Amino acid sequence: MVKFKIVIVGAGPAGYFTAQAFQNAQTEDIKFAIDMIERLPTPWGLVRSGVAPDHPKIKTVSKVFEKIAKEPNFRLFANVELGKDVSLKDLRDQYDAVVLSTGASKGRKLGVPGEDLTNSLSAADFVPWYNSHPDYVNTEVDLSCDTAVVIGAGNVAMDVARILAIDPTELDPTDIADHALSKLKQSNIRTVIICGRRGPEYAAFTAPELRDLPKLENTDVYVDSNQIQEAELRIASLIEIEKDLRNNLEVMRLIADQSKKGVDRKLEIKFLSTPIEFKGNSKIEEVIFAQNKVENGKVVPSGEKFSIKCGLVISAIGYDSVEYPGITIQNGRINNIAGHVEHNLYTTGWAKRGPTGVIGTNKSDSTDVVELIIENLKEPKLSEGITSLLKSGHQVIDQLAWEKINASEVISGEIAGKPRVKEIKRDKLINIGLN
Ligand SMILES: Cc1cc2nc3c(=O)[nH]c(=O)nc-3n(C[C@H](O)[C@H](O)[C@H](O)COP(=O)(O)OP(=O)(O)OC[C@H]3O[C@@H](n4cnc5c(N)ncnc54)[C@H](O)[C@@H]3O)c2cc1C
Repeated sequence: MVKFKIVIVGAGPAGYFTAQAFQNAQTEDIKFAIDMIERLPTPWGLVRSGVAPDHPKIKTVSKVFEKIAKEPNFRLFANVELGKDVSLKDLRDQYDAVVLSTGASKGRKLGVPGEDLTNSLSAADFVPWYNSHPDYVNTEVDLSCDTAVVIGAGNVAMDVARILAIDPTELDPTDIADHALSKLKQSNIRTVIICGRRGPEYAAFTAPELRDLPKLENTDVYVDSNQIQEAELRIASLIEIEKDLRNNLEVMRLIADQSKKGVDRKLEIKFLSTPIEFKGNSKIEEVIFAQNKVENGKVVPSGEKFSIKCGLVISAIGYDSVEYPGITIQNGRINNIAGHVEHNLYTTGWAKRGPTGVIGTNKSDSTDVVELIIENLKEPKLSEGITSLLKSGHQVIDQLAWEKINASEVISGEIAGKPRVKEIKRDKLINIGLN
């Protein structure tokens, strides 16, 4: 029997599914000792700090992660950061394979004038603020204006717009950060406009997210019926229409035709609109858009412009991976071929593919990379692994310590009538885990 040492960096969905694929690949002859390191004192990646608080069902995937973590060949080392507490070189020396599942957490920029005005934020800063990520609790967000613009036509844009547009009392029974909930309760925002560059047929929303919109009790949702009709006409000539596209357009048509409740909270989805300039006197006051049209299947400027007065802009146009020593980022991802980076170095998840796909996409993807890793494994190394690399006294949050944090948050949640109350301070999280 041979036993290989694997280290996975990043405790998000990709990290856990990578660990699971190694667990499933074990035989009588080949075993794996899996160490997972995570920079935060808490695991689960974007399932904790990204997925919207009003979508609790999605977060139940964490039960799968905890099952993987309970296997005897798995160890968690949270509060350990690659590039700060351990180097990539040391990990590669100590382990038979290093898998980087570090995600993509840097918000992409539009690159338009005025983008850096006050209260023009990236979803990469706004989402972790309302989801209690310890690094983002101090994000400055001013919700005193009446109109917010959200740039992007994907699920992240949709989450952000929904959180801003719904009656905040609907968030009372969720695990949203208390600081965000109290700010949302004082918010003056009553109109939220999502702006996508291309037509409805290219929107990256998924149908389940769209289907949530007509169910909002205190918000009217608007989509321009003409824009949907034009998209329907454009796709009518296609030989085969993908199921997802058909579903999306059906829901958008439903939203466009739905009778409105006449409430003061409004969420509008505008297509064929490219932001070209942000204007304001130090703080954002207006976004200028180029109106687009579709010509011969291509999105082109129509030559017309329009503007939206607003006091908050959130850009949700994608994420890039963060660079650290020893890693090259290309097109926002770790430079790799099918997950292979260099000798004994691999990548899975958003770090590998970029910010695409749902949580489940990371499972099949990680399984493929693990197959490749196993094919490339030769002789196991004689080495000590992570324990030889950390400074003595380093406050590691292991699985038991994490379970203490988890239990404490869930108990606080029970008292407050929520699934959990997340602790927002790093040192407090560490304290709960280690005492
Ligand atoms: C706002 C938002 C909402 C979403 N909502 C949904 C949804 O409702 N449903 C759905 O299916 N999908 C959703 N997704 C997509 C889903 O979250 C991703 O597919 C998934 O999280 C990607 O997994 P990952 O492990 O690659 O990255 P992540 O989840 O980002 O995990 C990466 C982990 O690596 C850690 N890390 C980073 N750098 C280091 C380092 N140097 N050292 C140690 N650790 C490090 C991070 O702290 C993090 O825990 C959403 C995404 C976003 C951004």
